Amino acid sequence: SLEQLPKSETIELRKKHIGDSCSLFYKQEPLKIVRAKGQYMYDENGEKYLDCINNVAHIGHCHPEMVRAASEQIALLNTNSRFLHDNLVICAKKLSKMFPDPLSVCFFVNSGSEANDLALRLARTHTKHQDVITLDHAYHGHLTSLISISPYKFNSGKGLPKPDWAHVAPCPDTYRGKFRESDYPGSDLGKKYAEEVKSLIKGVRDKDRNISAFIAESLISCGGQIIPPANYLRNVYKYVREAGGVCIADEVQCGFGRVGKHWWAFQMQGDDVIPDIVTVGKPMGNGHPVAAVITTPAIARSFKETGIEYFNTYGGNPVSCAIANAVISVIENERLRENATRVGNYLLNSAQKLKDKHALIGDVRGVGLFVGIELVHDRDGKRQPAVREASLVLKRMKEEQILLSSDGPDANVIKLKPPMVFTVENADHFVRVFDEVMTEIGNGLLTNNRTYSPERRKISGEEGENHLKHKRTRTEKIDPSKNADEMVIKT
Ligand code: PMP
Repeated sequence: SLEQLPKSETIELRKKHIGDSCSLFYKQEPLKIVRAKGQYMYDENGEKYLDCINNVAHIGHCHPEMVRAASEQIALLNTNSRFLHDNLVICAKKLSKMFPDPLSVCFFVNSGSEANDLALRLARTHTKHQDVITLDHAYHGHLTSLISISPYKFNSGKGLPKPDWAHVAPCPDTYRGKFRESDYPGSDLGKKYAEEVKSLIKGVRDKDRNISAFIAESLISCGGQIIPPANYLRNVYKYVREAGGVCIADEVQCGFGRVGKHWWAFQMQGDDVIPDIVTVGKPMGNGHPVAAVITTPAIARSFKETGIEYFNTYGGNPVSCAIANAVISVIENERLRENATRVGNYLLNSAQKLKDKHALIGDVRGVGLFVGIELVHDRDGKRQPAVREASLVLKRMKEEQILLSSDGPDANVIKLKPPMVFTVENADHFVRVFDEVMTEIGNGLLTNNRTYSPERRKISGEEGENHLKHKRTRTEKIDPSKNADEMVIKT
């Protein structure tokens, strides 16, 4: 057994010794995952789950190249970055080759939050301004400085309030946002949403305040798997720079080739759209904590001129950098960006077709292996979020051993951000089961007390393996009009 404790005891100990606010997926019936490989995770009973959301296990869980790089380096040396080490400079060189000029200077840190916090420091030091513009519903990390620019956290009204220096621009969501494609057919919504930022800047300056930075994810995850319209970043960056601010692209979730065609999602907005600071994390270490800030020589110089040295005990240690180097090599050698485009397009097309069958599917959008399926009522009219139905989908898909999550301010967007080794067969399996679950939900009542069919639940993609070991009873009579109490977690 791969367990040290029975699951009930793990749950008991967690309740007793772990802060109650630390979230769990599927909190009613949490999973205990004991091993993983590629795009599959296995629980303590050997049950196999298709992982559609783990955008951290980018090159696949426990990729042998990454495991080898990590173990060889940890057996040899791990120490802080005050000594010269080749892994660090090789990683910096690789990263800077992946970015357009002048993005060429790296700072290594341990998490997306640390990267964004440092990005804010760099911006404030360089511009000598204080204020920050962020997008509504955004999440940029768990540090105090980042909760302050994460409407997802402060909108709830439960935690720290929004500080005066943070300013919130509307999320450029053309499906259910302030300006919708359906209301403005054919118009330049990128420009229209950017003008909102322009007037926000004017309001800030009228109060004798000044903008140090605009920060946004280049593809907006927490806001609901949103693809900003063309011309959005180009115009926003222009207005922000005119106001003396710098532009930060948070690529913590969407970077490292997830969009397929490019390494970074901001590149989808055009070759001339180049941020001043980019933050990267999650996929960079394939599960190991390593992240980075990439910026321009000019911004790095301003930071140096403060005379305050930057030291981060674990940031850029030889093991972290060995892992990041292995991740980048695997993406290149296994052509995972090409795979993201091919499988992503296939998945999008197949999911699009389900719109004809299921009126609840309002929008299917995505690029590469970053996909959102938005569930709404009255899709030809008001488009009210189908919140309970989305929650039921997650619950039922879990029973079918497919791990999914939802996102957006109403948690009604089913999100897929699978490891980049996701296959066409995985996409088929997802679509087939999702179709069935949507039919059940569309029929108003979920099936009563049926047992799983082994054939249906067989996850394709691994030769001859029937992962089904236990027959279990599935969801009994769930009435979608009642709250399914599914935990929604933003990652
Ligand atoms: N930025 C974005 C867009 C994120 O999604 C996250 C994590 N969910 C972070 C920053 C913070 O990263 P970390 O959890 O590694 O600190």
